[in-house]
Amino acid sequence: GAKTQGKNRWEIFDENRRARAVDRVAVAATLRQALRDDRFVLHFQPVIDLGTGKAVAVESLVRLDDPHYGLLPPAAFIQVAEDSGLIVPIGTYVLQEACRRLAAWRAAGIVPPDFRAAVNLSARQATQPDLAKTVGRALARAGIEPAALALELTETVLMDADTSTLRQFEELREMGVELGIDDFGTGYSSLSYLKRLPVSIIKVDRSFVAGLVTDPSDREIVTAVIRLGQALGLTTIAEGVEDAEQFSMLQELGCDQAQGYLLGRPQAQPPTVSVLMSGTSRDSSRNPTL
Ligand code: C2E
Ligand code: MG
Ligand code: MG
Ligand code: MG
Repeated sequence: GAKTQGKNRWEIFDENRRARAVDRVAVAATLRQALRDDRFVLHFQPVIDLGTGKAVAVESLVRLDDPHYGLLPPAAFIQVAEDSGLIVPIGTYVLQEACRRLAAWRAAGIVPPDFRAAVNLSARQATQPDLAKTVGRALARAGIEPAALALELTETVLMDADTSTLRQFEELREMGVELGIDDFGTGYSSLSYLKRLPVSIIKVDRSFVAGLVTDPSDREIVTAVIRLGQALGLTTIAEGVEDAEQFSMLQELGCDQAQGYLLGRPQAQPPTVSVLMSGTSRDSSRNPTL
């Protein structure tokens, strides 16, 4: 079907990109054109509160709606975007669009007024001297309070942060923006930055969640990360929850929130808030303009 074809297409695209430097130039040109043509789109994956079973936020995930290759996932273009510096304007678009969409969903009553959004930041973006200003402008333009936005950073970005980048992070935190560590446990493993940096969220990498039920060492790692998060007063979010056993084990372990295909795949439409428990559920999939 069309889906399989789309996947094969981006794999070919990805192969070409890897194979020849000249294609990296072509990809960069494609990205530049896509920015002009407004061809970047966001998909949204629900983040579920493990206490209530309800969606409390979304993670915003960028895609490129390419006229030739179809919908391309970040794996097909993020590296070229990062290397070429185009990730900065792409990232600004993602920030503005995520805030704008969140405001529209709230205004339409599709999500509750305290519903939040997360956005991924690349290394290049995180080290921009005007990061806090860019984020502040996106929030103000949409009329969203800073506490509704979480910025996801990798361990590498946090470890490499120089004093001026750290100052940007502090400034964001003082504004009320949440900072989270994405893919926790897969990067450099110095834990001292948890104390040093203004981080309030840790996301347990899906590779550990995948083995949670079957692999005793993965279970120990997930347990330890959740305890660590609790001890430091951080919100813990498990990534990549794909089955009900993982879900209930995470609940038992006291993990705060979860994301994964079991709970909702990334999609163009706003999330349905009542994902797991009965209550007021509004089907927003009929209104694709929001
Ligand atoms: P991430 O931030 O760790 O995002 C989670 C990825 O895991 C997403 O892939 C999501 O679709 C996928 N995922 C979610 N639930 C499951 C599950 O249950 N099982 C499995 N196997 N996968 C699941 P996606 O959308 O392809 O994004 C990949 C990565 O690209 C992201 O990883 C993030 O690092 C990066 N990315 C995405 N959007 C942006 C963006 O706007 N800016 C930047 N700089 N990076 C982005
Ligand atoms: Mg992320
Ligand atoms: Mg992640
Ligand atoms: Mg991940």
